[in-house]
Amino acid sequence: MTFKKILLIDDDLVLQAIAQDHLTRDGFNVVCASDAATGIQAVIDEKPDLVLLDVVLPDSDGYKVCQELRALPISVHLPIIMLTGLDDSHSIVQAYDYGATDFFVKPINWKLLGYRIHYVLRANRTLEQLAHSEAALANAQRLAHLGSWEWYPHEDRTERSDEYYRIYGADASLLASSMFAILPQVHVEDQERVRKALEEAKNAGHSYQQEFRISAPRRGMRVLHEQARVFRKPTGQIDYIEGITQDITELVDAQKRIRSLAYYDNLTGLANRQLFRELLQHELQRALRQGSQCALLFIDLDRFKRINDTLGQQAGDLVLQTIGVRINSCIRSCDVAALHHHEINNKSEQVARLGSDEFTVILTDITQPEDAAQVAQRILEAIAQPIEGLGQDVIVSASIGIALGPQDGTDVESIIKNADLAMYAAKDTGRNTYRFFDRTMNEAVLDKFRLENDLRKAIEQNQLELYFQPKINPLSGEIVGAEVLLRWKHPQRGMVSPMTFIPVAEESGFIIELGAWVLKRACEINREWQDKGMPIVPLAINLSAANFTHPNLLPDIRRTLEDLELSPNFLVIELTEGILMKDVQETVETLNALKRMGIYLSVDDFGTGYSSLSYLKRFPLDELKIDKGFVQDIINDPNDAAITAAIIGLAQNLKLNVVAEGVETTEQADFLLRRGCNTMQGYLFAKPMPQGDFENLLLSGMDMRDMQAAIFMVDC
Ligand code: C2E
Ligand code: CA
Ligand code: CA
Repeated sequence: MTFKKILLIDDDLVLQAIAQDHLTRDGFNVVCASDAATGIQAVIDEKPDLVLLDVVLPDSDGYKVCQELRALPISVHLPIIMLTGLDDSHSIVQAYDYGATDFFVKPINWKLLGYRIHYVLRANRTLEQLAHSEAALANAQRLAHLGSWEWYPHEDRTERSDEYYRIYGADASLLASSMFAILPQVHVEDQERVRKALEEAKNAGHSYQQEFRISAPRRGMRVLHEQARVFRKPTGQIDYIEGITQDITELVDAQKRIRSLAYYDNLTGLANRQLFRELLQHELQRALRQGSQCALLFIDLDRFKRINDTLGQQAGDLVLQTIGVRINSCIRSCDVAALHHHEINNKSEQVARLGSDEFTVILTDITQPEDAAQVAQRILEAIAQPIEGLGQDVIVSASIGIALGPQDGTDVESIIKNADLAMYAAKDTGRNTYRFFDRTMNEAVLDKFRLENDLRKAIEQNQLELYFQPKINPLSGEIVGAEVLLRWKHPQRGMVSPMTFIPVAEESGFIIELGAWVLKRACEINREWQDKGMPIVPLAINLSAANFTHPNLLPDIRRTLEDLELSPNFLVIELTEGILMKDVQETVETLNALKRMGIYLSVDDFGTGYSSLSYLKRFPLDELKIDKGFVQDIINDPNDAAITAAIIGLAQNLKLNVVAEGVETTEQADFLLRRGCNTMQGYLFAKPMPQGDFENLLLSGMDMRDMQAAIFMVDC
């Protein structure tokens, strides 16, 4: 325990000695000074907890010393007990006037003085704690932008905390004492409401809680949250009203920002998929509850990709923004009213942009399907207006599918799916039109159509990727080439097999674009490898019939090779028998042209079609690929074994290289090796793999040699 330090300032040396004796026994540590000057210095040096100060000092008087001590920062709150020899009220009052904490009359009753000192010290500690917690409270209020006030309505007087004034940007003298004095600073739209709340608190004793905006000098518009509680006297009369006012501007801003990030589309400012789903859910539930009807319009722009391709993405963005605005302007405003209770006061929330060129509209409270049809027609017309400001007028059309809730779906998923189906049906009927969903819509047909539509976006949305499957020489273990196989990573369906989407692309004509893309990418990657100084191998691309007969084929290949300064030796083209035999005369010409360019030609899936031997001889071919259907069964099916052996013999006769594809087992590899097939491709060696994996394989090369060792083990 620490002893409290008492400083006695008195020139009476006997009294000093007695004080030492008594007060030390009472548990104090006593220091003494005999005049004013040393006394004041001792306060500074010794930092006493309490001062006993005689009124009469040789160099000054006690009152003056008291006054001087109060002016020093160190002793503003220091307890000072004046020792007066004069037991009259005048000197007592004087002591207090000069800032004394207490007084004590001489001659001194030491026992009593000990108690008095204890008492004064304790009282002072309490005061210090109070001052400390008040400071902490003020600090907390400042940090929380929280002002507090007490309003005494009968005197129309208000006491406000410092932070309250800070919030209002006002100084205490400027804001009149009445609580109503804030009204001129309140936003005009909120003024009536705030006035009413104040009046009701004052007259009827209603507590309140509300948010309102004010304009604060130098701080601009602020949003405040205010809470007021009315206190009554025992008689029931209103006594006073206590309130806290918080500046929540930053909070509100942050909430707005979060909301806009989470719920709105950056480009158009329309609702995004998330908000759209929530609203749709809400509207469906309401329709079910109230027996009303709502409609979902699913809008997809026709051939939007072409705009992006020909005019650039910036132009594409402008088109999407313009269309967003136009769709918005087609919505009746009465649809808005119905949404009010869901915090929606913006009609644009009914319109959403889900993906690149997909928009949706939710119509609420429609009385008949024709209402939705009318809006759809209006939207089609609005969209079809020329879009200016892009250097040339651009005309866009859209297809709209309509599903009605709840009859076409009672949950979000099914109504979206059905509106989507109807949209594809609209596209199928010839674009720039709308269709209602009906139950006879054939999911399978539309699914294909949907796939086609998605495929058109796959290139621009980077969903396509090239995989590589090595062709191996099993005798040396060397990678002698690779087949390039297209992969589509669909955002919803996952990996879609080329067996599924290539036929769709062929049917829709999109295969032309797709083929051009594969050619370009394969050559670019080959160039990349050469630049990196990697061991490179020829890459084989697959062509569909439409690619092969397209007039752009030869110029495209020539330009791509030239642009990338790539030797044609690195390009292989795989063509099926069916393609070759379609129009033999034309085929010969194209093949000759490709051959003249120095490109290696391979016949894919050999053995599955019908090939006339005489024609085969006339074609400038380099390679036959035995179809994997035969390879699969060579061990168990003598027919397939015979055909495979015959193809190998034929290839040798025609001096063509022969490749077996789909080699999965060492037995198959062994069989093929014995018959003289020296190039193989299949899961036994490697599955088709992404570019990075194939690069690693090219760099290591060794894995294949290990593979080959395994084959020879079987062989021996
Ligand atoms: P394809 O030209 O006959 O390609 C060989 C197919 O066999 C590939 O299927 C390949 O992954 C698969 N395969 C390879 N080794 C094995 C094996 O050991 N066992 C089995 N069961 N299969 C194996 P994928 O990649 O699914 O391609 C399927 C077809 O899609 C290709 O058949 C080709 O006709 C077409 N295709 C792929 N990419 C393109 C392309 O870029 N353009 C065109 N026009 N068609 C392509
Ligand atoms: Ca192939
Ligand atoms: Ca094949």
